Amino acid sequence: MRTITLIILHCTATRTTQRYTFHQCRADHLAHGWKDIGYHYYITRDGQVHDGRPLRQVGAHCKGHNRHSIGVCYEGGLDAAGHPCDTRTAAQRHTMRALLERLTAQFPGAIIMGHRDLSPDRDGNGRVDPDEWLKQCPCFDALCDYADLEPPGLLDDTI
Ligand SMILES: [Zn+2]
Repeated sequence: MRTITLIILHCTATRTTQRYTFHQCRADHLAHGWKDIGYHYYITRDGQVHDGRPLRQVGAHCKGHNRHSIGVCYEGGLDAAGHPCDTRTAAQRHTMRALLERLTAQFPGAIIMGHRDLSPDRDGNGRVDPDEWLKQCPCFDALCDYADLEPPGLLDDTI
């Protein structure tokens, strides 16, 4: 198995009014010329967790961070008007938490982050601030939502 240091959360950046199934996502990634869906797990609006790329394989979901990470994506991320929004359904929140509990137990010390949290820290203040986000993905604060699952001490320095 690979060394896993990061669990990176993503959204599909599709509207909450629109379906984007596991099979659609996988087909779009294959159309990019990738060998499989880029994510390891895909959570549809009904809360179902679909197995994507096998964990032992490097994913394709966050440039520069794929080798030692697991990619988890939920269907949604935009409101009906197309603006970034935490559109996770209750079912998605439920299964995402259960999945993250399982993964952090399997890979102790892995840090849960949103894709946007891995944007470059341009001003070098030790934090990736909202004006430094390259994109909004996953459209919620992963470090805050899953603070209780983060490695001890990780969030001690955050304000
Ligand atoms: Zn993303």
